[in-house]
Amino acid sequence: MDKLLSKVSDAGLDPSSVTGEEAIIFWDHVRNHVASSQNEKAHCFLISAEYRSLLNQHRQSISELKNALDLLTLPNDVEEIITIKTSLSERLVNAGLYDEALKEFVDLSSLAVEYSSIDEYAIAVLGMGNLCDAYGDHAKAYRYYQKIDSIDHAISSRSLRLRCKINMVATLISLNRITTANDLLKECEELSILVSDKNLAGQIILYQAKLLSRRKEHHQALAKLAQAQYLIHRSTSHWLANMLRLEQAHNLTELGKTDYASIILKSTTKKIQQTSSPLLLQQFYDSMSHVFRNQGQFQKALTFEKMGYRVSTDLIKSIPITELGSHQLRRLSRFELQLKLIMSEQENKELKETTESQKDAVAKLQQDVFTDPLTGLHNRRWLDVKLKDLLLHDTSFAFLVIDIDHFKSINDELSHLVGDKAIVCVSAELKSHFRFKGASCVRFGGEEFLVILEQSTIERAEMHAEHYREHIYSYGWSSILGERGLTVSIGITLHRDGENTQRTFYRADKALYRAKANGRNQVCIED
Ligand code: GH3
Ligand code: MG
Ligand code: MG
Repeated sequence: MDKLLSKVSDAGLDPSSVTGEEAIIFWDHVRNHVASSQNEKAHCFLISAEYRSLLNQHRQSISELKNALDLLTLPNDVEEIITIKTSLSERLVNAGLYDEALKEFVDLSSLAVEYSSIDEYAIAVLGMGNLCDAYGDHAKAYRYYQKIDSIDHAISSRSLRLRCKINMVATLISLNRITTANDLLKECEELSILVSDKNLAGQIILYQAKLLSRRKEHHQALAKLAQAQYLIHRSTSHWLANMLRLEQAHNLTELGKTDYASIILKSTTKKIQQTSSPLLLQQFYDSMSHVFRNQGQFQKALTFEKMGYRVSTDLIKSIPITELGSHQLRRLSRFELQLKLIMSEQENKELKETTESQKDAVAKLQQDVFTDPLTGLHNRRWLDVKLKDLLLHDTSFAFLVIDIDHFKSINDELSHLVGDKAIVCVSAELKSHFRFKGASCVRFGGEEFLVILEQSTIERAEMHAEHYREHIYSYGWSSILGERGLTVSIGITLHRDGENTQRTFYRADKALYRAKANGRNQVCIED
């Protein structure tokens, strides 16, 4: 791609000067007169297809993507092929060409496994699940989503992971599995802290409102939906903006405010009728019918119900549901071993990338929401996420609760500022002592810290705790505290299989209190 761009500028052309229709002509010219290799020509088609998509020229965009594919060959162009197939399948779905879309999803899933692209594999399986959902076979859709769930931790794009989970929530709601939907949605909320994507944040609000509405808490649902107002702007997806309005109308109708509901629906009529999404259209007709029914206008309600029914039968007819049956699911199951292999190979690389992208996201938020500002250790918010993750993956761990002894007197005798310095110093020593893999340090409260040791025995945890305690005891405190020394007390326990972490805390705390009661500057264990 870089080579193509430099050729373009050598030819005296400037791609940044063109947009819209002109850009399409520009890239057609480049393809015919500047690009020389097949790969370069394919890139021209790919770029042109993007511009066509922005201009709503969906069919042409699809055919240009196909032209690009025809120019590429495996294995050299595998990256480009996977990228194009990903876009192509999405466009085919939007154009209602579900047979072809499924063919691309199937192809993409095989390619992704063969070339170790977990994310694209997830995109393909998600696409298949979405088709089942659109057909109305939510149970089957759920089986596809479960396949993604089993490789969830290996998906490197957080926003993709969030997208998959949100789709699963929607399906769970359709299956009326409200408690599970609720739990998963909470997970989505946590994950969304790291994903600054307004569309996904909006979808979370939409499903929160839907769950409230299921519980007949319509006022709360409306309050939730109001929160989404600030998210909706020009770049918001058409689908989301309209779904939020339909949900608003639904709740207003349930509260008997059918006049407001019909004002909202009327304001969306034009936009929705132009939409290419049959699902949205169907839901719109259902909402209209719902309002009219509640207004006692049964004839109108029936008309809209029929319109909705027609849209949904047309949709059902065009979805190749039989090809999404057990044969397809078995085909995917056969990939599972290969996926496991890819995941284990990628583990190290992936870990690195996750921390990188975590850094990115946090920088975007312009405030580090997971770090304690004074000490640079993790904070409690981080801890909450971490603990969920440990439980989710059944990782065993030990807790070390560390508390500075008689800290109040340091503050009182030497000032708060000196107290802060001591906290910073204890933290820095903690970080450097527990910097090996599987150890995490958290500032739990004022002068209290927590260390998580993953996959540890109690003996190993005790050894580290004892080592650290001794180190703090003999540390050269005089430069900060003058005549005074400083010690810490430590309580340790192991997390027990299946227990909730509050219980683990409770035991670690008991151990800590014993260490204090026994005279401080010591380590105690609570089994
Ligand atoms: P013990 O040995 O029983 O733990 O006694 P202690 O004095 O350490 O415990 P206590 O919980 O009574 O006091 C903790 C003190 O820590 C009280 C609070 O003012 C102080 N503290 C909490 N956070 C900070 C902080 O960020 N900076 C400073 N300088 N002091 C803090
Ligand atoms: Mg203390
Ligand atoms: Mg304390």
